[in-house]
Amino acid sequence: MSWFCLPIEQGGLGILNIEDLQKIAHISAIFRLRKYRDGFVELLNSTPQLPEAMGRFVRDLHLDLRYLKDFLGLGNRNDVSMDVIMTELDKISVSLRKNKEQTFQNVLYHMVHAGQKEKLELLLSRSPVLQLHYKSLVNNTAGKWLQVFPRYSDFSIGNEEYSIGLCFRYMIGVPPINRHDVCPFCAKDGCFIDLTGHHFVSGCMKDVMGSNGKPLKAQRHSNHDFLRTTLYNCCKHAMTRAYEEPAGMFLDAVKKDRPDLSVEFPNAEGRLLRFAVDLTIVCPFEGSGKGVLEPANVPGTFTGEKHDYKAYCAANTKKNKYGAHCKASEIILIPFVMYTTGKLHKTAYDWLKQMSRYAGPRRDIPNNTLFRYWLKVLSVQLMKQIGYTIHHRAMAMLSGNMNLRAAIRNGNAVALEMGRA
Ligand SMILES: [Zn+2]
Repeated sequence: MSWFCLPIEQGGLGILNIEDLQKIAHISAIFRLRKYRDGFVELLNSTPQLPEAMGRFVRDLHLDLRYLKDFLGLGNRNDVSMDVIMTELDKISVSLRKNKEQTFQNVLYHMVHAGQKEKLELLLSRSPVLQLHYKSLVNNTAGKWLQVFPRYSDFSIGNEEYSIGLCFRYMIGVPPINRHDVCPFCAKDGCFIDLTGHHFVSGCMKDVMGSNGKPLKAQRHSNHDFLRTTLYNCCKHAMTRAYEEPAGMFLDAVKKDRPDLSVEFPNAEGRLLRFAVDLTIVCPFEGSGKGVLEPANVPGTFTGEKHDYKAYCAANTKKNKYGAHCKASEIILIPFVMYTTGKLHKTAYDWLKQMSRYAGPRRDIPNNTLFRYWLKVLSVQLMKQIGYTIHHRAMAMLSGNMNLRAAIRNGNAVALEMGRA
């Protein structure tokens, strides 16, 4: 089983190998037919030898059940009857009635392929950076963009961005970036380009100019601003009172310090909550600034997973900076940390969920549907921006069209455009 064959939530592409799947799909299908199932079991139990005479169907069922036996913890027993195997499968089925998010087939698939996944992880552990990257993909937010069928042009991803997005997801060199060399955009600092594009997304600060002489907004600050607007749109979609970059929210902080969003909605008891949401996009490892990727130095005191460390630090920085002030003004600070790989840090994830509990009844849409919709919107827009950034920086690098590269933020870009008029 390769990395791609894993389900999307497990970091793969969800393209399952038919050979991995066929036995499990067969048993799951039989298992659903409760009415006939017991009849099959009786038949199989009455003929403990391989029942050749009963035709291919029963023979296959017999073989597939025997195959599953090894994964049900019954492997060492040779005298296992079909009844025992069925009882074990029944237990799984009963446990699923409580947890509706998983299907019977999914559970069997994970059970059978757990060992193979461990093997894959062992293989990836040879490259610590790749391992961190992979771990940050194993969740239900990072791959949301792969599950989207866009109906609005805002959410469609262009071919180039999609291909680059896939390369980025699997840390494969992005084709237009063809040399590992000093980055031409921040050459003075001796930064290197990394072929996977992480330097362009998280490291390079300066913008590039398009062939028409206008800034392309292909750099991390405009990615941040773009995602901020996306998050703002989600808050408006949730029917909350939201403002972008509210002035005066952090009154005692330095004037330029303002959160990305101010959002207000009441909790279940009807008390109005005020949130200051500050968005940050982080890489799960170090070194994208210099273009030489390496795992972060995680102190022994950190109890979480290693790939979460950078996001944890980013959230903590925000808390240290604004936490005390927010507490004094009864504002709840939400450090909204997104990984470049698409994962949402726990605080951000929980907060979106909280907002969906408010919005669901008001929009008359199930909370979970809203929540998943926002996750998809954020994931698509992040991937689009990453694809755009890598594509245009790589093109500017190839064409040498990078004379004017002063614009840093959207604001500067607009000022430049106005200056030209
Ligand atoms: Zn650079």
